[in-house]
Amino acid sequence: MSGDAPDARLGPPAETDHVPRHSLTVSVLAAAAEHTDCTFSNLALAGRVDLEKLFGGTRYEPGTGADPLAIKRGRLFEEILKKDDYAELLNLLYEHGVAIETEARIARLRDLPAPAGRSGLEVRAEATRLELVKIARRAWDAPTLIDGAVIRARIGGADAYFEADGLAAASNGALHVLEAKSFPLIDGRCDPIKLGAACAQAGLYAALVRAQLIEDHLPAETVSDSGFIVLPKNTRLGRAVLLRQNLSYHIRRAARLLELAHPDEAAVKRLAGRSFPADGTGAAERIAGLSHLMDEAGTHYRPECLEHCAAAKLCRERAYKAGRLGILGDQASREASGVESFARLLELAAGADPSEHERQSALELTRARKLYRRALKGAGP
Ligand code: SF4
Repeated sequence: MSGDAPDARLGPPAETDHVPRHSLTVSVLAAAAEHTDCTFSNLALAGRVDLEKLFGGTRYEPGTGADPLAIKRGRLFEEILKKDDYAELLNLLYEHGVAIETEARIARLRDLPAPAGRSGLEVRAEATRLELVKIARRAWDAPTLIDGAVIRARIGGADAYFEADGLAAASNGALHVLEAKSFPLIDGRCDPIKLGAACAQAGLYAALVRAQLIEDHLPAETVSDSGFIVLPKNTRLGRAVLLRQNLSYHIRRAARLLELAHPDEAAVKRLAGRSFPADGTGAAERIAGLSHLMDEAGTHYRPECLEHCAAAKLCRERAYKAGRLGILGDQASREASGVESFARLLELAAGADPSEHERQSALELTRARKLYRRALKGAGP
């Protein structure tokens, strides 16, 4: 652990502290949106700390990540969509009432000559900004589709660059976010969980673009609440289909996450002198450092964390050892609201004096205990 000032540790990433960092993508933000109530996770997001790397090689290493076959399928579907200058996609948009010019203009920002790494992202972010200005001002040369947009946003007090996986379609000065996914729509149905995740990503993209427009003194409403999820029409990838979605809920939630992604002042003060472990430290030392930081910052484990957060295996073990009710999930926590642990639950059921916020749960618990005893008596010989 180095002796830097606290703001260099838990604020914007310092290039010299050897903490592994990752570049932020819309999917990283979408995953973080699932646990805005966890201070440890918010700090990791604000500092762009690569938790997956920090847990790598330890017994808490997260699962294998995305299925390589699904990634391949996704890339293939993207290639199919790009065919003939997105002709099929543009037709589908037209059929859904998005007024598309006969001469569609595609802004292919991935093809811009730009250096690799961060400076390349800066070039694409500036190009994205200029294309967005054209759309908002209804310029004659405004693009119909933006492919490979990069949006700049302030995260944790520093500039972060988000590579949007999706596309943006513009018509008559309005912009619709499009998110292409390779899971199929069969008989008009698709996996609702995957659809929800795609909408969350599209909502984040829309919120980032709105924030960019506001920064440029342009109307945020240029970005429509209505976006599209692009799916293969069946298990073969040959044909595409569009699902129009109202993204307003996801956009609001994403805007809140962008506010939260700044380090919490109180937490930074409290954690002065602490840091995420550096890359290259031994596995045991890394886990001890992370555990300590979790104690100090605070976590909020629930089973859903296993799907979104690289720290979930360690958090699950810690929650289990501490007997925290959160391990049973949100419903159980709600039913015993105000009660922190299994041990306290048993004390209250046995008649311990409840605190103000435990009172309602204590009432339910003593009632349940009486019923249980009565049932046991009734079942006796
Ligand atoms: S797994 Fe732990 S660190 Fe990650 S979001 Fe859940 S509680 Fe927070």
